[in-house]
Amino acid sequence: MFDRFDRKLNYLRISVTDRCNLRCTYCMPEEGIKLFRHEEILTFDEITGFTKVAVTNGVTKIRITGGEPLVRKGVTALIRMISEIKGIEDLSMTTNGTLLKQYAQELRAAGLHRVNVSLDTIDPEKFKVITRNGNINDVFEGINAAKEAGLFPVKINCVVKDSKEEEEAKAVARFCIDNNLEIRYIHQMDLVRGHFSIVDGGTGGDCSSCNRLRLTSNGKLKPCLFSNIEFDIRELGFEKAINLAAELKPECGSKNETGTFYNIGG
Ligand code: SAM
Ligand code: SF4
Repeated sequence: MFDRFDRKLNYLRISVTDRCNLRCTYCMPEEGIKLFRHEEILTFDEITGFTKVAVTNGVTKIRITGGEPLVRKGVTALIRMISEIKGIEDLSMTTNGTLLKQYAQELRAAGLHRVNVSLDTIDPEKFKVITRNGNINDVFEGINAAKEAGLFPVKINCVVKDSKEEEEAKAVARFCIDNNLEIRYIHQMDLVRGHFSIVDGGTGGDCSSCNRLRLTSNGKLKPCLFSNIEFDIRELGFEKAINLAAELKPECGSKNETGTFYNIGG
C-alpha cells in the first residue's frame, strides 16, 4: 500500500493498552491519567482482525506497544494470534522491560521475534526519578531474560534531552557495548508543540520515508504521530479506515493536540 507521496506503508504499530506500571516524567503526568473504559479497549479478536486486513494491504512489520504492553492481561495469547497471520516478517515489542523476566520465554514461544527495551540511565537512583519509583534491577533482569529467550536482537531505546553525548546516554551506550545490545537514541519529543526529530540509530522521525501507521488501544488508526488525524476502525470498518489513513497521511508531521505517548505508543 502506497500513500499519495509514494511512501510504502508496511509498518503497523499497535498500542494494546493505555495502562502502565511506571510513570516516566516525559510520558505521563504524575497524578496519573484518565484511563479508557474497559469496553473502549479493542479486544484481541478486533486487533487480530485488523492486523489481518493490514497485512493483506501490504503491512509486513508489526510492533506491539502501549502503555506498557506486558500489563495487558493475556498479551501472550494476542502475540500468538498475531504471529499466526501469514505475511508478517517482523514481529516486535517495545516494553519498559520490568515484566520481561516473567514473560520473555512465553513471548518467544508465542512467536514474538524481538524486543526494544526502554532505558535512559543505568543509575538506579536516576532511574527511580525518571520513572517515578521504578526498580532498575527489574529491567536488567528483564533484558537478560530476553536475551536468554532468544528475543534477538534486544535493542535499547534511550531517550535523551538534547544529544547522545549527555553523560547518562554515554553510560547507557557503554552498558550496551558490554552487554551486546543495540542502542537507539530518541530525542525527547513534545507532541503538542510539534517538537520531533529523527531517531538516531533507528528509522523513526524522517517524514519523507515514513512507512508507519499506528493503532491506539481504543481503535483509532493514526497515519502520523504528529497530527490529530485519526480514523475509528470500529465506526468505519477495518478496510475503509486503512484506505483513509493511506489516502490522508500528511506529507510531514506538525502537531498532535489530542494524542499522548502512552496511548499512541511512541
Ligand atoms: N511502555 C513501553 C516503553 O516504555 O518502552 C512502551 C510504550 S512507550 C510510550 C514507547 C517509547 O516511547 C519508549 O521508548 C519511550 O521512551 C518513548 N517515549 C515516551 N514519551 C516520550 C517523549 N516525550 N519523547 C520521546 N520518546 C518518548
Ligand atoms: Fe510507561 Fe513507557 Fe510511558 Fe514510561 S515511557 S510511562 S514505561 S508507557
